[in-house]
Amino acid sequence: MTVERTFSIVKPNAVAKNVIGAIYSRFEAAGLKIVAAKMVHLTREQAEGFYAEHKGRPFFDGLVDFMTSGPIMVQVLEGKDAVRRNREIMGATNPENALAGTLRADYADSLTENAAHGSDSLESAEREIAYFFANNEVCPRTR
Ligand code: UDP
Repeated sequence: MTVERTFSIVKPNAVAKNVIGAIYSRFEAAGLKIVAAKMVHLTREQAEGFYAEHKGRPFFDGLVDFMTSGPIMVQVLEGKDAVRRNREIMGATNPENALAGTLRADYADSLTENAAHGSDSLESAEREIAYFFANNEVCPRTR
């Protein structure tokens, strides 16, 4: 197991529920460290670019509507096996399939409004981190 970085979003419905801190606590309790974070309100262009791989799928426009409906928190998480660990903390994409105690089981409102995003591979993580953060905005946590 190596130390990895992954990219995470607290989606608009979870920000609206005022559970940013509760979600960050889950990352920290799992040993993941936040090494970059900011609040942003995506433009349609930014949301479409981020989810470009889903362009043309039936849920794409609804997903972009949702992701631009309010502010989000974007963060970089660092830790052992961070990509897989964060996906475990989030739970399945469809909250109906998400295990009890996962972010999506607790905070999702629907398949689209599923509270959190997490990179699905190291390659995606690298691309997604670079989409939102300059290199000097990510702070190594050596202490
Ligand atoms: N999504 C949706 N309908 C679907 C599949 C996905 O609205 O049928 C949304 C949902 O918000 C999901 C996002 O699109 O989180 C990206 O989908 P993906 O399959 O990449 O799932 P994830 O990696 O987020 O679990």
